[in-house]
Amino acid sequence: MIWTAALLMIVVSHADSDDYCYNEPHCDPYAWGDTFPSCHPLLEEHHSPINLDHQVIRNDSLESLYLEGFDAIQTGHWTLKNDGHSVVLQVGSGMSVSGGGLPGVYHTIQLHFHWGGPATNGSEHMVDRRRYPMEMHIVNMKSIHPNLTAALDDPTGLAVLGFFIDVVYADNMHFGHISQKLSSVAYKGQITKIKPFPLMSLLPKHSMSQYYRYYGSLTTPPCSQVVVWTLYEVPIYISWSQLAQFTSQIFSTEEDAEQVTPLQNNFRHIHPTFSRIVSASKDAILLTGTASRPLVLAVSAQLLQIILLGSFISGL
Ligand SMILES: [Zn+2]
Repeated sequence: MIWTAALLMIVVSHADSDDYCYNEPHCDPYAWGDTFPSCHPLLEEHHSPINLDHQVIRNDSLESLYLEGFDAIQTGHWTLKNDGHSVVLQVGSGMSVSGGGLPGVYHTIQLHFHWGGPATNGSEHMVDRRRYPMEMHIVNMKSIHPNLTAALDDPTGLAVLGFFIDVVYADNMHFGHISQKLSSVAYKGQITKIKPFPLMSLLPKHSMSQYYRYYGSLTTPPCSQVVVWTLYEVPIYISWSQLAQFTSQIFSTEEDAEQVTPLQNNFRHIHPTFSRIVSASKDAILLTGTASRPLVLAVSAQLLQIILLGSFISGL
């Protein structure tokens, strides 16, 4: 029985990892529906990612989420893995997210990244039709479910926190916990241990009340429409060289493969919102209001931050 279960797991994980890709026509995101019927973007279905535009509706009841355990240093170790589609940081138990309109408590399972190429951006969600260089997803599962299979049967079984990643001159010291370990997981299937660190140190902690909320899907097969999305408007900043470690030093192929393929542009295409409502949190700034003024203000604030950072570095 256990043996059968183990065999089944091997078969399932084999199907999961090899039946989809990003950059070859026979298995790219437009072909996922051939192998995974739930990835077919049928009319009025609720897929992700989407473009965030000014059609957002303010919801004053959306305040900061409660991120339990994000400030603490977990015991034991975490694992970083190249699964051929992304780099995944599997965290230990002890962290959860709730509040901010989420329908329950969700345990944090893992985080992973989506990126582009050396000269192209690769966030999954877009803001006003523009992509950021990268996007980080913190995946959380509703605590009432015993396993992922059960969560995938619940229309709000998963809560994913999405963070855009943008580039500045300076290295992000906290992001180094991950980027310094990337060379150990350059090839598909490679795994390395990571010393736990406070997850909050990665996040834009002064602007966690500014976010957008909508109901969508997993952006990878089986594309299940079970995700409560929270997209934060203030990005995480990393350096060009930290970005380049993802775009040119991670491979979708195994170490002994005859032909080595860089893992690039691992993002799904944008899907229509149809009749869905995208809500802006109480403190969201960027896309709220019908005039362009708030956007201009927000962008100039961001520019000022970059200029200040730049002059700070050149002053060193
Ligand atoms: Zn993702």
